[in-house]
Amino acid sequence: MTSLNCLFCRIAAKKAAARIIYEDETCVAFEDIAPQAPVHFLVVPRKHIATTLELEDGDDALIGHLFRVANRIAGDKKISGRGFRMVMNTNPEAGQSVYHIHLHVLGGRPMRWPPG
Ligand code: AMP
Repeated sequence: MTSLNCLFCRIAAKKAAARIIYEDETCVAFEDIAPQAPVHFLVVPRKHIATTLELEDGDDALIGHLFRVANRIAGDKKISGRGFRMVMNTNPEAGQSVYHIHLHVLGGRPMRWPPG
């Protein structure tokens, strides 16, 4: 299920441009257009899910897959040993701006806690 009105559905379908770094039948990963760290990419399911609140029982394996893909790319980008952060924002106060779930992966610099 995809939405032509959704930017990340369009990127996954190659109907909008992005610097795609990985793709398979379930997800795509691409460089964030406004990176907040030396490494900042997004891992996005092809399935349109607006927020984490819409996740269903059948999505459990999908979510696990996103994390495992993120780990693999972090290894390729040589940030896994140093450390990196994975974030999924839900709704406005968390800063969600694209309503198609996506796992942010940030690394290449020390991360602060708590996040802003
Ligand atoms: P969020 O604010 O958590 O919903 O994250 C949305 C992310 O998507 C932000 O980090 C944006 O910089 C990023 N973004 C928005 N448009 C694009 C695009 N066309 N290509 C790549 N990243 C994008």
